[in-house]
Amino acid sequence: MISNAFTIGVDLGGTNLRIAAYAQESGLLETIQLSTRLADGRDAVAADMCQAIRRLLDRYSRERSLTGIGIGSPGPLELPAGRLRQPPNLPGWDGFELRATIERALDRPVLVENDANVAALAECIVGKGRTLGVDSLCMLTLGTGVGGGIILHGKIWDGMSGMAGEVGHLNIWTDGVACGCGGHGCLEAYASATAVRRMAEEMIAREQAPGLAALQASNPRFTARDVSELAQTGDLHARRIFADVGRALGIGLASLVNLLNLPLYVVGGGLANAWTLFSRSLFEELRHRSYVYRLTDLGEDRVVDSSPGNTHVVPAQLGPDAGLLGACLLPFTAALSKV
Ligand SMILES: [Zn+2]
Repeated sequence: MISNAFTIGVDLGGTNLRIAAYAQESGLLETIQLSTRLADGRDAVAADMCQAIRRLLDRYSRERSLTGIGIGSPGPLELPAGRLRQPPNLPGWDGFELRATIERALDRPVLVENDANVAALAECIVGKGRTLGVDSLCMLTLGTGVGGGIILHGKIWDGMSGMAGEVGHLNIWTDGVACGCGGHGCLEAYASATAVRRMAEEMIAREQAPGLAALQASNPRFTARDVSELAQTGDLHARRIFADVGRALGIGLASLVNLLNLPLYVVGGGLANAWTLFSRSLFEELRHRSYVYRLTDLGEDRVVDSSPGNTHVVPAQLGPDAGLLGACLLPFTAALSKV
């Protein structure tokens, strides 16, 4: 690999559009942050993206060699075509040929990936994966919804057409609440910021939660973060919500650990800041439901001392930059696979 190589990565979100130049030895060289002009249509957003990419190309390609351009986009996406399929966070973008549109405008090849997958890639290469010295992981991103990504030996596992790793729609409760995907009882309906707010509203409606009712009275637009702050003060009802989040995560992780037997499972996204509030019930469920976890557990309950490896379930390391970093890293992993 050329030592002065650089890449350009794009983190396309429903609110923000971030474009960065990246070099392996120095990390992010420069980041351009724009608002995603959703109201002006997808062509306007694509034009903003291309203009920022060109600016970074002009600035860095004289001294450095471009390895490639990576874009992390909300899904669902068809890959490798880079075509959007009814993305809930990008209304009006159904059928949009994101990859082809950007390649045509720039007259260069680009790589498109699901945003949760590139965040997982970044955690693997420059986050918790690097810290623990492993090259495979599964990441769960707890935000408005629950996203996920699976990295096997340093590469994203896309599945047949780019839709693998949809851990947010693992079934947790057969008769659970309705999910945006059309199913019922999905992990996303119990372990997302949206789910925390829903559970709080249900408790308030049952008139059983004075602390939460007071929160709503003082701030009708309260968020999952407000509920977690209330839980940190010791409010029993708010704490119960996070215990339920942990329970759902533990049940979901038990399936993932049994299925994948990976060395590392990373929990990221804004709601992961409440790790200390939900991790206890998470590990209770995980130990109870996954014999693979019990046989590879790091903790006090480890059954087999001579296990071939340990299963780590830990909070993410990178924070909100993971998606942007992953988009920047994507061309490097694609370049490696051709060697
Ligand atoms: Zn679902």
